Amino acid sequence: MKKLICSLLLIPAFFSAQQTVSRDAQIANYVSQVSADSLKSHINKLVSFGTRHTMSSTTDAKKGIGAARSWVLSKFRNYAKNADGRMEVFLQNQTIQPDGKRINQATDLGNAIAILHGTDPNDKRIFMMGGHLDSRVSDVMNAKDFAPGANDDGSGVGAVIESARILSQSKFPATIVFVAFSGEEQGLLGAKMLAEKAKTENWQLEALLNNDMIGNNLSSETNLINANQLRVFSEGLPQFDWDKKAQNIRNLGLENDGDARQLARYIKEVGERYVDNLEVKLIYRNDRFLRGGDHTSFVNQGFAAVRLTEFNENYDHQHQDIRKENGKQYGDLPEFMDFEYFKKNVGINVSVLANLAKSPSKPENVKMEVKELTNFTTIHWEKPKNGEVAGYYVLMRETDASTWQKKFFTKENSIKLPYSKDNYFFAVQAVNNSGNESLIVIPSVK
Ligand SMILES: [Zn+2]
Repeated sequence: MKKLICSLLLIPAFFSAQQTVSRDAQIANYVSQVSADSLKSHINKLVSFGTRHTMSSTTDAKKGIGAARSWVLSKFRNYAKNADGRMEVFLQNQTIQPDGKRINQATDLGNAIAILHGTDPNDKRIFMMGGHLDSRVSDVMNAKDFAPGANDDGSGVGAVIESARILSQSKFPATIVFVAFSGEEQGLLGAKMLAEKAKTENWQLEALLNNDMIGNNLSSETNLINANQLRVFSEGLPQFDWDKKAQNIRNLGLENDGDARQLARYIKEVGERYVDNLEVKLIYRNDRFLRGGDHTSFVNQGFAAVRLTEFNENYDHQHQDIRKENGKQYGDLPEFMDFEYFKKNVGINVSVLANLAKSPSKPENVKMEVKELTNFTTIHWEKPKNGEVAGYYVLMRETDASTWQKKFFTKENSIKLPYSKDNYFFAVQAVNNSGNESLIVIPSVK
């Protein structure tokens, strides 16, 4: 047996030697830079464009989605000045025609994008964070009336801008992409445009954190307040290449272990490590009941993409005309947001993106021995393609457990554990000296 250290004491320890997973001081520092005041100013500015409806003006200098996306690009360009030429800022746009659904005029659809290129030319990994710039009122086709979209999805775009502000000051081996999508309310159109580009250009996109409504703490109707939990929605069974994957998923019982679900678990573990008083609540579905979001455009192309959303939604302040009825204010206005809660949710994004971009890439050729029947589980792997490696975590959980329960640390390239693969799931991730761990790999059996 190789030297083992187990950590994460979520279930009683089977091994005596313990190792505490500690914070990487650099990442803790990034998280501490997330500012509620800064977020508030981003939201107020976004609201000032009147409407950011996808079919609103793209030529007016002050009002409409064109002015809004120009402003987002100008923020990115400002941050790029501190990035020594590593940050590329551009508008991805195209004119789309009426589609008989939610687009009824020729529309200049544009995503505002900043790419913070990695410093390791051999490291092709890309980690993305997004929110949607477009807003709406009660009528989804109304491109004229005041549609502040403070929370939906000013919060997502504000989170993107704030994260770009903080992370652009540092160098990461892997690449981080910041996006303000357009066309979400009209059918996830901007996200589709970028997901197709990523697919066509073979981007090694390993994660998308889609932030859509992360700044409200109060539920309508039931009046529940929750500023301590953030939901992360993730797909279970994969939409993409289902026919090819189904047999393996069935053979190995992996219906709860798709790439998006693994990313969600990673967000929970890493995010909670850096952000105090916040629990990441894993929701085992791709999105909210019968509703959609921009990550789905990426999920549909086979990328690991998840949705981050506040725990409670408030339908009085979502997709509503700005009005008062019986003394009650409707509409998506900044005054209904909780900026301290919002700040914590941005901290989750910053910590996860930084941890991913600093981490070594995933271990290669991770295989489980299955030649003979045994109550041991033996896994072999090879070192990752990129990054410095201090060792590996072998993760384990019971088959009915939601998250990984134990992490065994080893410096070797294999492990033999006295736990039967019948009763547990296993995975392997690489980790560097700063404690930044890669995404996980489920062992193959071939
Ligand atoms: Zn939204």
